[in-house]
Amino acid sequence: MLKAIKIVLVGTSHPGNIGGVARAMKNMGLAELCLVAPRGKFPHQDAAFRSAGAIDILEQAKIYDCLEDAVADCTLVAGSSARSRHLPWPLLNPRELAGRLEQELAHTEHRIALVFGREDRGLSNEELHLCHLHVHIPCNPDFSSLNLAAAVQVLTYELRMAVLATQEKQAMPEAQHFGTEWDVPFANSETLEHFFNHLEHTLIDINFHNPDKPRQLMSRLRRLYMRARPDTIEVNMLRGILTLTQQAANKNAATKPPESN
Ligand code: SAH
Repeated sequence: MLKAIKIVLVGTSHPGNIGGVARAMKNMGLAELCLVAPRGKFPHQDAAFRSAGAIDILEQAKIYDCLEDAVADCTLVAGSSARSRHLPWPLLNPRELAGRLEQELAHTEHRIALVFGREDRGLSNEELHLCHLHVHIPCNPDFSSLNLAAAVQVLTYELRMAVLATQEKQAMPEAQHFGTEWDVPFANSETLEHFFNHLEHTLIDINFHNPDKPRQLMSRLRRLYMRARPDTIEVNMLRGILTLTQQAANKNAATKPPESN
């Protein structure tokens, strides 16, 4: 199960921290590291040094230009944040996230991304809005920002503990498995981004949304759909509805008599 989880570091400035993260990951049995626009040089000897031998993870690290591309194949995107933001989003602590792991990975094609922000200013609002949920490590509120690798360590430790508990449960002969599996895989981020794009265009077509005065409409709709966790069939149905809505709006616009004054 741990192999289905990737760690995504956004805009990291210190290569040493990337090495520290690789070490924390390997300690906990994770292997996939993604770097989004690292600000320092990479590969770097400080990263290799701080990885204390987790070189394989650094060598296989994938580099992306933007977060959207790094999480495109993921069905659950969890953004780790040291502070609360303007628009409240579903918020879990690491143990609560770990408690959902078994259910989240019920399908073999499901993949999870844990996203971590910049050392100096964390994740932007746009990046946090690409996430289904946010994770906060409840530490001293007067001193709540952990070192990047320490934050990765805490989250991955909780995930490992949850996996060990699941394996123990499965090893018991009398183990009963209740039907927690969903019948259809959840939509991944790429599919959801296409849907949000289609939704925005449709809302413009029907004059519900004015991109010049966006307010928080798209962010709030994003939060609603992310909370609902649509599966692939549900997204297809929603997109079918949007297509017909656009067609109806276009037809309406074409047949409407010119406005008299
Ligand atoms: N100064 C930044 C904190 C950056 S720490 C800010 O105010 O946002 C670098 C990253 O480590 C954060 O973006 C976050 O992903 C993670 N992190 C640090 N402390 C955390 C905490 N208490 N809970 C969850 N994630 C945390």
